[in-house]
Amino acid sequence: MMGGLTGWLRVNRHTPCAICAKPDWCLISENGSAAICPRVKSERRMGDAGWLHRFESSNIQFLPTPPEESATEAYGEHHWAVRADEFFESPFSATARERLASEWRVRTAVIEALMIGWDGKTYSIPECDADGNIIGISRRWPDGRKRFHSGGNRGLTYAADWYEDDGSIYVVEGASDVAAMLQADYCVIGRPSSSGGLKHLEKMLMRVDREVIILGENDKRPDGTWPGLAAKDLAKRLCWKLHRKVKWGLPNDAKDMREQLSKKGSHYER
Ligand SMILES: [Zn+2]
Repeated sequence: MMGGLTGWLRVNRHTPCAICAKPDWCLISENGSAAICPRVKSERRMGDAGWLHRFESSNIQFLPTPPEESATEAYGEHHWAVRADEFFESPFSATARERLASEWRVRTAVIEALMIGWDGKTYSIPECDADGNIIGISRRWPDGRKRFHSGGNRGLTYAADWYEDDGSIYVVEGASDVAAMLQADYCVIGRPSSSGGLKHLEKMLMRVDREVIILGENDKRPDGTWPGLAAKDLAKRLCWKLHRKVKWGLPNDAKDMREQLSKKGSHYER
């Protein structure tokens, strides 16, 4: 695969760290193109795992460690932060972000704020817990198909500066709606599905005293089911957990907020 990394392995006696030469603690990418060393600093800190170092050309032959020593298990969520960063910095990621920005009709800065990268085949969309730790990465193919990088956990999609103002917080479904709301200058948090992400949302919203509005989708089906109405249940559950009023609404004449915001002067219905 191109530029993207397939995973991280811990250095061992057979393959010591290429940066500090020690046989323990440091990580090396499976394709040998980068290392994370906690002993030697670089410009990029990767949480508690250490500092990221990239190699111009790779001639490192990694002798694999047994699966029970895999870096994923040893480093938990840091593993996802490292991958998200690799995808964000990958050779074609800037071009990919521009392409996605024009598809979603938002500024490239909005795509950047969501840390969206390119893993060689798909847009990588990091999902975070309540504290901003990346706990998984959603994949979106240019044709719109979506999947999730296996091994990760579903989380929330939001920009790092979400807490910086004191206006209403909108909770929408999916990354493209998050982007549309950011483009229109709303404070927004994206949930992974119509009812997902409750635990993380609860934790985030408990820390702020601001109006919360859950937005569903106008996706009523011919058989009468209406997944978007889960917004109402989510609002109820949050209301109960946060001990305060939580509003909910639907776009008034569009399927979702992305479509709604592309129409001038319209808003959502409570
Ligand atoms: Zn090292």
